[in-house]
Amino acid sequence: MKTIGLIGGMSWESTALYYKIINETVKERLGGLHSAKCVLYSVDFDEIQRLQHTNEWKKTADILGEAGARLAAAGADFLLICTNTMHKVADDIEVKSGLPLLHIADAAGTIIQQAKLHKIGLLGTRFTMEESFYVDRLQEGFGIEAIVPDQGERNEIHRIIFEELCLGVMKDDSRARFNEIIAGLTERGAEGIILGCTEIALLVRPEDSVVPVFDTTALHARRAVELAFSDRAENGVV
Ligand code: GLU
Repeated sequence: MKTIGLIGGMSWESTALYYKIINETVKERLGGLHSAKCVLYSVDFDEIQRLQHTNEWKKTADILGEAGARLAAAGADFLLICTNTMHKVADDIEVKSGLPLLHIADAAGTIIQQAKLHKIGLLGTRFTMEESFYVDRLQEGFGIEAIVPDQGERNEIHRIIFEELCLGVMKDDSRARFNEIIAGLTERGAEGIILGCTEIALLVRPEDSVVPVFDTTALHARRAVELAFSDRAENGVV
């Protein structure tokens, strides 16, 4: 079993899910008292989110790259960044850390492609929904067209993520709003929904959606365990 390196804390609410899912998945495979070999570097999210909102992405890449290098020194074989948004600087983090990285959009894209879906609704922070780093990767790597909610809805989702979900606050009103937005995307032709923010699964229930829901936290964490047991080189992870 390889050692999984986790750059977490963005937010710690979802990093806790990663830790749980990774260990549960190892236990499913090996049974008994088996658990995952992993190391976690958890950052102060307040520092990171301030830099995100002042457009200082280079500084975020420096901090997370340094975290990755420390995970390498601690024995990690490959890296996960436990947030969709920070994949905006994934290439930089990979280079700075010296470790191969399992990209969260690849973990989602692989499963959505297997499900033979071509048009998908994407929910996440404004950065993830509005910039090209995520949408283009799904299109170019997997032939998946990602559609996003309108501007007002994107602002609402972004606010709920940062003012509620990342603080561990789950409100029925916000769940209802997410469900309306998901229904709107489905009416526009989305064959499935990507929960492209690692906290959304804390709020949204898959049974509330008429189309399949793809939770990036679970898909990323499970794929990491597959790679930890794989002898083959995939996604640059050996
Ligand atoms: N965890 C969220 C994500 O998956 C948002 C936190 C962040 O901005 O990094 O994008």
